[in-house]
Amino acid sequence: MNYNAALYIRLSKEDENKNNTNSESVENQKNILTEYANKNDYKIYDYYIDDGYTGTNFNRPSFLRLIDDINNKKIDLIIVKDLSRFGRDYIITGYYLEMFFPSKNIRFISILDNYDSINNINEYMPFKAIINDMFSKDNSKKIKAALRIKQQMGKWVGGCTPFGYSKDVNDKNHLVVNYEEAIIVRKIYSLFLSGYSINKIKEYLFNNKVKTPTLIRNNKKNSKYSKEGYWSSTTIKTILKNELYTGNLVQNRRCRINYKIRKLKNNNRDEWIIVNNTHDVIIDKEDFDRVQKIFKEKNVIKKNNKNNYLLTGFITCFECKKRMSFQKNKNNVYLICNTYKKYSKQRLCSSHSNNYKKIEKIIINKIKILMNHYNLNVEINRKLLLLLIKKIEVHSDKTIDVYFNFKNPCLSL
Ligand SMILES: [Zn+2]
Repeated sequence: MNYNAALYIRLSKEDENKNNTNSESVENQKNILTEYANKNDYKIYDYYIDDGYTGTNFNRPSFLRLIDDINNKKIDLIIVKDLSRFGRDYIITGYYLEMFFPSKNIRFISILDNYDSINNINEYMPFKAIINDMFSKDNSKKIKAALRIKQQMGKWVGGCTPFGYSKDVNDKNHLVVNYEEAIIVRKIYSLFLSGYSINKIKEYLFNNKVKTPTLIRNNKKNSKYSKEGYWSSTTIKTILKNELYTGNLVQNRRCRINYKIRKLKNNNRDEWIIVNNTHDVIIDKEDFDRVQKIFKEKNVIKKNNKNNYLLTGFITCFECKKRMSFQKNKNNVYLICNTYKKYSKQRLCSSHSNNYKKIEKIIINKIKILMNHYNLNVEINRKLLLLLIKKIEVHSDKTIDVYFNFKNPCLSL
């Protein structure tokens, strides 16, 4: 049989740094694979090269192209130098080798492992995949441990420096004050301490054309509002709550869930690594503590005054997709678009004001009908809504889109 072979090549950054011997280089892998294909008379359909991609993640451009070409029946043989080139995640590698490729009639050859799926010796491959997976885990543990040690020594190991500081040109693990930014940080603290609310500070900064961190640092990824010079509450709060400005290095506040998942989780305070007096102060300790005290008091008031409506947290504005907030007005409660409320002068959205009670009634009635339809007799409360509903977009009390957590995700009520 004449095969159309895909030659798959992967090189990660770690592989590149690991040794100088070049044994994993793209060129070297290419030579080995080409020679092998020619020797066995396999027709080379194409080379699939992922340069600079880690083996634990399968979201690599050439790998995805390879899968596409399999689905379009363009290839029926994959050749790799060794299994770790293909992937370092046991579960996903196993899925491809044992389920996906056989189901598509794809032959898989790993040269250095002496593996050829046509010989059907599958006992050894899963084991090899586990070893590759362990190697990644081990690697990520070692990197983590090295980072912790640096953090405990008071060295800055983060990528982007906190607003107000830059990396020392002579020592990238040391922070130095960035004067242009530090002036803004001090201004925010002094406004807050003189009684300005977060919203008032936002307004002040915008009216006085104080550049946002996004603009100063030319950060292209951030939101379009901050690119247009609008400060967000989150940015201001983050600045007001960052102990780093008192000269103490606070790190390890967040970490990755595990070596396979890039998502970050917040660490408990006792896991934070704090080293005192590692860099110059922007805000003195006394002022910082006063700010934290104000936040604490505000939180207590907020908790006591919180309006807990049945639909709190569900309702979003159909136009800007941001949350709507509740506004009490004598006997009525109104829904108002948050973007409109925060940036009313700039007219970033319209108020989309609606009578809340009316909308609540409509939703309850519709859910009751839905429940009856399935012969379910359950009380309609927050718990049930959290299970059922993802979000509610209010256009008017005539048009309400309800997005559910299950399939058939949107019903217009
Ligand atoms: Zn809106």
